[in-house]
Amino acid sequence: MTPRHLVPALFLDRDGIINLDLGYVHRIEDFIFRDGIFALCAAAQARGLALVIVTNQAGIGRGYFTEADFHLLTEWMTGEFARQGIVIAGVEFCPDHPTHGIGAYRRDSPRRKPAPGMILDAAATHGLDPAGSVMLGDRATDMLAGRAAGVGRLLLLPADAAEARAAPAGTIIIENAGPAGAIEHLP
Ligand SMILES: [Mg+2]
Repeated sequence: MTPRHLVPALFLDRDGIINLDLGYVHRIEDFIFRDGIFALCAAAQARGLALVIVTNQAGIGRGYFTEADFHLLTEWMTGEFARQGIVIAGVEFCPDHPTHGIGAYRRDSPRRKPAPGMILDAAATHGLDPAGSVMLGDRATDMLAGRAAGVGRLLLLPADAAEARAAPAGTIIIENAGPAGAIEHLP
């Protein structure tokens, strides 16, 4: 078998990074892109990084909205990126919650951050190189998932001071800047 050339990625959390985290966002009218997110993604794409979204969506498991709602919103969102010339290579989501999930959604999923499953699955699907990749999120759990997956660079735009304190050692904390503040930290 011919070895495949592995591609570096920018793994992006969704709520709080791509869009304002208003809590269980699932409707287009509530999806507000953060200032600077298109500039960041364009810069990452120009540097050869594949763009992959990894997002916990326990609102599905909790029964607040459906997987169909999520896919509809995702299709619109990726279309908005495409209008900016930005290709989203993959979107991984985890609908489960270990205690608040309803029915089959109540489980301790290996894909739910801080576990690394979504990143590892995306890496396998798209031929990505975690060690050469970047994880960008607004919570410590994003950083822990990145670390557990072997992602080489962890970038935190902290949702609050507690998230910054809880981030693992080695995390680059970007203070007082939006997503565009991450551009200088891309490989
Ligand atoms: Mg978030």
